[in-house]
Amino acid sequence: KAVPALRRVAVLGATGSIGASALDVIARHPQRFQPTVLAAGSQVDALLALCRVHQPLHAVIADASLYTRLRDGLRDAGLATTAHAGDIALDALAAGEACDTVVAAIVGAAGLSSTLAAASAGKRILLANKESLVLAGELLTRTATLAGAEIIPIDSEHSAIFQCLRSRDASREGAGVRRILLTASGGPFRGRSRAELEQVTPAQAVAHPKWSMGPKISVDSATLMNKGLEVIEAHHLFGLPPAHIEVLVHPQSLVHSLVEFMDGSTLAQMGLPDMRTTLAVGLGWPERIESGVEGLDLLRQGRLDFEAPDTDAFPCLALAWQAMRAGGTAPAILNAANEEAVSAFLQGKIGFLAIPALVDNALSTLPSGPADTLDGLLAADKHARQLTRTAIETA
Ligand code: NAD
Ligand code: MG
Repeated sequence: KAVPALRRVAVLGATGSIGASALDVIARHPQRFQPTVLAAGSQVDALLALCRVHQPLHAVIADASLYTRLRDGLRDAGLATTAHAGDIALDALAAGEACDTVVAAIVGAAGLSSTLAAASAGKRILLANKESLVLAGELLTRTATLAGAEIIPIDSEHSAIFQCLRSRDASREGAGVRRILLTASGGPFRGRSRAELEQVTPAQAVAHPKWSMGPKISVDSATLMNKGLEVIEAHHLFGLPPAHIEVLVHPQSLVHSLVEFMDGSTLAQMGLPDMRTTLAVGLGWPERIESGVEGLDLLRQGRLDFEAPDTDAFPCLALAWQAMRAGGTAPAILNAANEEAVSAFLQGKIGFLAIPALVDNALSTLPSGPADTLDGLLAADKHARQLTRTAIETA
């Protein structure tokens, strides 16, 4: 049996929820994968702990003020890992010789720069950072295509569609895709009315019924903005127009999404809600590898339910559709306003219903411009953040 080539993997966002799942799968296959670069934002102690276990060649902390703590911690632990700090070092490592595969698992627009760097360098990118596609979908996919980079979706819905299509090109001749159906758990507040959402707390919002995830995406799941971001993500990943994308609420979170073909056939991908499956798909692709996730016992699960999303109680989903249809910088504005609003909600500065109100405010105040340059997109992101922060402070 041929031994597969050793893949050298950079895990960006190593200290997060996706980072932990990626490192879990990687550690099951020491002959196949070597974690060569580990990166985090500011959690230097957690990064040091991961370095002791995984012994990467390089460790990067984005917050440059933490450089000496990282360097000294690595030295004190007797590790040969080289310390780096700052965004420029992060981008250089994502694009550099130390890795051929990049797990893009930084949360938010902060992940765009390193993802673009990996794309320009022609890496295999396991893309969890959906915000980079929402902010700069055309630029990122174009950059990847030109450089021969492979983008493999990690978001469970998009991995499901990728597995059903065995490709990202849903619009190619003969693919026969009529529509894709993204499933949504509905989040912790499914079934509540708008009025019942007025007083919900950050602790309630992050308690997701089916998935264990970082705080930002957990709030996005509670507002349904997560599904809105995913509709835009699917549009870019699979090259499909908005009219061919639909959302279906499925509270059990066992069917991860579906593809309907022109002959009437519908394929679905199913499995327990555990991100190690999609990370194993991306790491091993096109081969299947062990992930540590058990198979699905449908007799024990019993039933699968489906319902339409409630866009009155959860206006974020409709706002995302609106931004996608407007195009240009509108999705970047949506994403930036949402990041600022979610951060303020998590800090207890605003209520839950202020999140869609602030996003709506940014979309209706700021004009959508052309999205063809990175500078233009970053300027739109910055303006939307300033506008939203001012609105939060003066509320
Ligand atoms: P998390 O909050 O658990 O982890 C975020 C990681 O990003 C941490 O390692 C943190 O140190 C790092 N980080 C934050 N700011 C940074 C910066 N400025 N520079 C460098 N690193 C920075 O988040 P998560 O749940 O793991 O989600 C990560 C991404 O994956 C998000 O885009 C999310 O939408 C996506 N995603 C997550 C899940 C999930 O199950 N958790 C599922 C689908 C998609
Ligand atoms: Mg998802």
